[in-house]
Amino acid sequence: MDKVTLSVIVPMYNEEEVIPETYKRLKNVLDGLNESYEIIFINDGSRDRTGEMLLKICESDYNTKLIDFARNFGHQIAITAGMDYAAGDCMVIIDGDLQDPPELIPDMMELWRQGYDVVYGKRKARKGETFFKKFTAKAFYRILRSLTDINIPVDTGDFRLIDRRVCEALKQLPERSRYVRGLMSWVGFKQTAIEFERSERFAGETKYPLKKMLKLAMDGIMSFSYKPLKLSSWVGSLLSLFSFLYLIEVLLQKLLFPHTAQSGWASLIAVSLFFNGITLLMLGIIGEYVGRIYEEAKGRPLYIVSELKNMEERKGPRFNITQRQNKKD
Ligand code: UDP
Ligand code: MG
Repeated sequence: MDKVTLSVIVPMYNEEEVIPETYKRLKNVLDGLNESYEIIFINDGSRDRTGEMLLKICESDYNTKLIDFARNFGHQIAITAGMDYAAGDCMVIIDGDLQDPPELIPDMMELWRQGYDVVYGKRKARKGETFFKKFTAKAFYRILRSLTDINIPVDTGDFRLIDRRVCEALKQLPERSRYVRGLMSWVGFKQTAIEFERSERFAGETKYPLKKMLKLAMDGIMSFSYKPLKLSSWVGSLLSLFSFLYLIEVLLQKLLFPHTAQSGWASLIAVSLFFNGITLLMLGIIGEYVGRIYEEAKGRPLYIVSELKNMEERKGPRFNITQRQNKKD
């Protein structure tokens, strides 16, 4: 494998508008470093011209590599693939839309040289994002923190530098519903933060619609805490206790005052709706965990690569690449 000091991992999903600028700014910073480096782009099943554009860049620049996914597997899986293939002694994970400034990389490397294994970017401010996104993100990081025992830093995305050791440790974690920044806290090592202002997206719009954001949030909580399950057993026990006490009261009333007219309908409906609601909610929580167990049990590979560029000799640790034999080059 080639000797590389720094691998920069950039996931790309329908990002044709930002690719030239991202490449230019990354190149600028990396050339100034005086280090051997590689840029690994992951094309996460884009439907626009992202794939072609990245391939073109790779053809003119051997330090730029491409992992082309067979379909959209999602951001967290894309960065996992990047780490699987990266050859660097350290690696930087950075968004492709220039919301994370590449100019921070030299400072991150400086901290890495001082002995830190993980240097994560902490968002001081977020520009160009809706109030809703900022608010939900802030709330989510804090809820997650209160639910888990491990120390997952708040207001921190996937923009970070990690040492090879951390990457190797992460490769040992085979789980499917990956919340990568949580896994990185889980493996430990010496970590430090570097603050930055998160700028606006250079162009295009977010590739994280509400649905994907919710899935990421659920993955974060479900993979790092079973407190929701504990909560459901607590609520269950409390409600059973109250119901039992109330049952005794109802029975006593019936025995002691058998002829009093009891107004039944409204209270029956209320009790039934309330308990059914709670039961379904708890079932849903259990369902979330069962679904995740099912996902793990299937043991499918995390992603399928359809093509590698400029690193065909490297083997992904989890599967064999399906290369087409009849391809005209
Ligand atoms: N991304 C990806 N696969 C996806 C969604 C997003 O590889 O299914 C990439 C995207 O191209 C970008 C990064 O993940 O480089 C972060 O996505 P985005 O900027 O849309 O998220 P936001 O910053 O709005 O949270
Ligand atoms: Mg973004």
